[in-house]
Amino acid sequence: MGIINESGKIIIAIDGPAASGKSTTARLLARKLGYTYIDTGAMYRSVTLKALEAGMLERLHENPEEIEPLLDNIDIAFDGDRVFLDGRDVTAAIRENRVSRHVSFISSLKPVRDILKQMQRNMGGRRGVVMDGRDIGTVVFPDAELKIFLIADASERARRRYAELVQKSGDNNSVPSVDELEREILQRDKDDAARTHAPLKKHEDAVEVDTSGLTIEEQVTLVYNLALEKTAV
Ligand code: C5P
Repeated sequence: MGIINESGKIIIAIDGPAASGKSTTARLLARKLGYTYIDTGAMYRSVTLKALEAGMLERLHENPEEIEPLLDNIDIAFDGDRVFLDGRDVTAAIRENRVSRHVSFISSLKPVRDILKQMQRNMGGRRGVVMDGRDIGTVVFPDAELKIFLIADASERARRRYAELVQKSGDNNSVPSVDELEREILQRDKDDAARTHAPLKKHEDAVEVDTSGLTIEEQVTLVYNLALEKTAV
């Protein structure tokens, strides 16, 4: 593979089901390559938080088009690992379970996907990005030079998510059980794969990586080596 543009930088799309290790891998990979990391799940979570805070969830199930005014002038920005919604730091709020429970519904709405897709294309337009999500290789950047599809056993994904939530909350009483998390994760995968617009699916060119038995370091090294192959002269 030759150098792709004059800067030699490429787009790396990392898709896959919930809690498969995408964001950890993508963040560390971006750091190693000196690329920008963009967590598109955080963008769908931000819109979901906005709808929840506006008390609109129930109404949206009846009248999905009512989401449109909420999207007017919405501002979602990243500063390192922090996420800002309309200028407010929502990094912790978008990880709450109430957001996780409703995000698949919000992300199934076409106006939401259209606006976020446009923002994501603008963010990655100059290449040199690692973007993770569900539809990056299939819809947002079908021309991404490297497409990865990360998978892992559902039980392992639930254990990882549990450990992450306990670590963040510092209290395992407020965290759902591993079994409950596994049920929620499987439901979210099912909803994400079944939706009409940009469903979760592997692009035919994507390299599938099963992270079940791998450490984070091994995952990052594996994907880093694939990236080097794509950028080598
Ligand atoms: O990656 P994360 O688990 O934070 O994503 C939250 C949700 O956002 C997913 O379950 C999915 O419904 C939605 N999403 C999406 N398309 C993306 C990224 C996330 O529909 N590119």
